[in-house]
Amino acid sequence: MELRRHAVEFGFLQGLFFAQKASLCEQGLTIDGKLFSYPNIDETVEVREGWFTQTLVWGRNKFTFFRFTPRKPLFKLAKHNRLVFCRPALLQTYEGLLVDIAKFDSEWRLHRRYLRDSDRVEFLKSYSNAFASFKQLDHFKKFKFDVTQLDCRLANFIGEPKSYTAKYNQWWQEKQLVKHQQLFDSLEDNPLTPLQREACVIDENNTLVIAGAGTGKTSTMAAKAAYLVKEGLAKPHEILMLAYGNDAMKELKERVYTSGELKAVKVSTFHGLGKEIIQFYESRSTQVSVLATDDKRFTQFIDQQIDEIVADPKMADPVADYFGRYLYPQVNELDFDTQGQYRTYIKDNEIRALSGDLVKSFQELMICNYLYTHGIDFEYEPRYKAKNGGGVSEPGKSVYQPDFYIPALDAYLEHFGIDKAGNTRPDIDKTAYKLSREWKIALHEHHQTCLLQTFSWQADRGELEKCLESLLCQRCEQIGLAENELFKPISPEEVFIQVKALGVYRNVSRLMSSFVSLFKSSRFPLSDLESFKVSRASQSNDKASAYNQLRWRAFLHLFRWVITRYEQHLTSLNTIDFSDMISQAVKMSGARDFHQKTAGRFRFKYIMVDEFQDISAERAKLVTQLRDSSPDCALFCVGDDWQAIYRFTGSDLRLTTDFSNRFGATKAVTLDKTFRFNNRIEKVASRFIMANEAQLKKSLTTHTVSDNPEVCLLIDSKEASLALAFENILTHISSNASADTGSNSATRAVTVMVISRFKSSLNDLASWQKRHPQLKIRGVSAHASKGKQADFVIVLDVNDDKYGFPSKIASDPILEMLLPQLDVYAYTEERRLFYVALSRAKKRVFVQAELGRESIFVKELMQFKEDVNCHLSELAALYIDDINCPECNEGKLIPTEGPYGVYYACSLGRHYCDTKLESCPSCQSAPMLRNETHHFCASGQCLHQVPVCPECITGKLIKRTNSKSGKAFLACNQHRVNHANSCKYTANLPIKDEALT
Ligand SMILES: [Zn+2]
Ligand SMILES: [Zn+2]
Ligand SMILES: [Zn+2]
Repeated sequence: MELRRHAVEFGFLQGLFFAQKASLCEQGLTIDGKLFSYPNIDETVEVREGWFTQTLVWGRNKFTFFRFTPRKPLFKLAKHNRLVFCRPALLQTYEGLLVDIAKFDSEWRLHRRYLRDSDRVEFLKSYSNAFASFKQLDHFKKFKFDVTQLDCRLANFIGEPKSYTAKYNQWWQEKQLVKHQQLFDSLEDNPLTPLQREACVIDENNTLVIAGAGTGKTSTMAAKAAYLVKEGLAKPHEILMLAYGNDAMKELKERVYTSGELKAVKVSTFHGLGKEIIQFYESRSTQVSVLATDDKRFTQFIDQQIDEIVADPKMADPVADYFGRYLYPQVNELDFDTQGQYRTYIKDNEIRALSGDLVKSFQELMICNYLYTHGIDFEYEPRYKAKNGGGVSEPGKSVYQPDFYIPALDAYLEHFGIDKAGNTRPDIDKTAYKLSREWKIALHEHHQTCLLQTFSWQADRGELEKCLESLLCQRCEQIGLAENELFKPISPEEVFIQVKALGVYRNVSRLMSSFVSLFKSSRFPLSDLESFKVSRASQSNDKASAYNQLRWRAFLHLFRWVITRYEQHLTSLNTIDFSDMISQAVKMSGARDFHQKTAGRFRFKYIMVDEFQDISAERAKLVTQLRDSSPDCALFCVGDDWQAIYRFTGSDLRLTTDFSNRFGATKAVTLDKTFRFNNRIEKVASRFIMANEAQLKKSLTTHTVSDNPEVCLLIDSKEASLALAFENILTHISSNASADTGSNSATRAVTVMVISRFKSSLNDLASWQKRHPQLKIRGVSAHASKGKQADFVIVLDVNDDKYGFPSKIASDPILEMLLPQLDVYAYTEERRLFYVALSRAKKRVFVQAELGRESIFVKELMQFKEDVNCHLSELAALYIDDINCPECNEGKLIPTEGPYGVYYACSLGRHYCDTKLESCPSCQSAPMLRNETHHFCASGQCLHQVPVCPECITGKLIKRTNSKSGKAFLACNQHRVNHANSCKYTANLPIKDEALT
């Protein structure tokens, strides 16, 4: 092919509108004397059709010609010449591509290992020219270059790099699995599962192994290390394995160190690694403070600091503030749907005034503490005494108990929950509340007793204490008492002594200790704390958050003192704590001269992390820095997001659930075969945990199967339930004894793990162990049960209670500031903890709760009908679940065995709701409720009812007979002979009222 010359003239008309002359030469196309060079191969050259014209597109230029002109030869030759002109460059591209293809082929063949995401990116980067060249394929065809050579590996790779890589890796893995089959078969007692093997041979930049309970995560870690060494991917000392505690580290060592060679694998705890990094980077050995290793000493130290703060007169104000006012974080009453729920919260969190009284609201707490710190003696919720000494019953309730009585003033104090306009909170009947208040005022007037009144709106304005003070002063004046006779403020030190005496101090000490630890591992400078906001967005504007912010300021005063002394203490002894170990190691491993100064001893090819779900942001940073500072270092993490239960120490589950976004290209493997429990336990536990959408989805298969439900709910007292559970276990053992003879289970003692949310539930296990010496019984808290297993598990006290499961102790908003964010599902951390408890059992799980006090977890399990067995106490037949306590609307009415038979008590407990109802005398299987006119049986079937006494609204009208006349009449059953204030209502007997007979 060669360039052809051509010249043409188009005549007058064409020239009038468009170009008149055109010619072709070596340099290009000349139009009316102006040269337009040949467009290169990427530019467009084509002819476009119009009605009367044709247009030649020439790269960025366009030339138009009438159809009647002799333009066709020009077009044809122009296109021909342009191709001839471009040929040398194209040929060069083509030949360059052939070189790339050959080079890629040999590099690929040399790779001979898993192709990581970073390898793929690297390949694509170095072959970006080839990528452009392949686009010229059509042109190569035009010049008849041999394009068959271009159908090659490089083309396939560049065409769809991700799927090609995936296919290659699949092929590679299969080859590896065959090659190392022997290793995977024989390394552990049981041959590894297919997914465990896959986890071993996958060699992505980051591998996340999600390992469900009992799926063999430690086996996988050990096998991975053995594989890496055997395949030559790393030398043993180039592998780092990180565990949390010493026990976990020891177990890993036992499992990994199967040969002399493998003993060079570095197995360490995070702290151990941190310590070593400091030691080699700074060529000094570090001493760990005893405060870090001994919890008791740490607590002692913190307590000692607080004692010193209290003793320092300069700190008197913050001390008085914190201990006198801000011991408890507040919640907004209006965040609760009902008064009952609010009371439940107060109850669950045991809000105790300095006087020792358990109060029912934060406003009452404020009043109590005001009176106490001002040295004013008072009674909380005393029985009202009329001047004649008698008690009074409140309409519709039992005995009238005003909120407070102040003896020095001989005055009662009622705190009313209303706003300035007299409105109550929405769930409370405003009219009834108003009537009740009016009744109280009238009563005090009638009996001429003094009633002082305070209101919620005063508290809302922050004026409650001020208003109370002026009321008290007025009363002093009224009765002629000198104010200093009443007000005898007590010193901050006395307040503190009282806080200690009440046992409330433990909360302060715990809060301070936790805050010190969390603060240390957070790496916030102390100065940042100043600007911290306690409130979460949802409740940022209410009174409670304003209070909590003040509380935080008060706490910060104390904290600054403590943390300064703490750091001074460490420095003076030349020691560090665990947080320092990690944070200093993070700093050092991020330094440029890190590997140089440590002589490369922290260069690894593989970093493996056990129990990854427990990792905190700081530790993750350490791991990431170590990975990124060593070329080709890969991360291998094993964990189970379902079992993440250490948020309170700073563990951030998002690092697991959002792994690839935080660590980069990741291959995830889910180990789905559990060797621990049977399919029935699995079904219940998995369904329970996956109710929370935020948990990763997985479906586990089990090694053992059972035809019967293996989760058993025991709704009865603890004692009765334990008896039943042990009886059931013994039956299970004896009925399975014959089947088990083949294995070693005959010689092994059957293990029973008793788990509870709080250790206090496990008090009397020793007696059970004595009764059943053939069993190995041990009790552990749910947290401590992690990583352990037993044949049978009994979970105790799964009640709706502060110390129940889920625990309803609210986490302190001060700590929340430093804790990782939590997903929004209710009780999400507690749910995982309960999952951990359930998944400890190999054969059967028992879950115990008390009748009517079952926690939401138990109620949820009750829904899994065909998968759980449920045992109910004998009193359960008398229990009606859908009736709430008429008084508080929150508690349930629990049938309770009393000295005079069964009665019904509110489940909130006597202190918070003292409702007690008699059992229906007619059917004896339901409580008696009351409406405006009648006391009636709560059971739907029984129609027993008795009229309400219209006088006292409490009593029942019952039939009595006049002893003289023998005539029957109705009288209030509250009437007491010789009791002046008791109800004296009587009425004639209606002739037809049969219900009374
Ligand atoms: Zn109640
Ligand atoms: Zn009845
Ligand atoms: Zn009455």
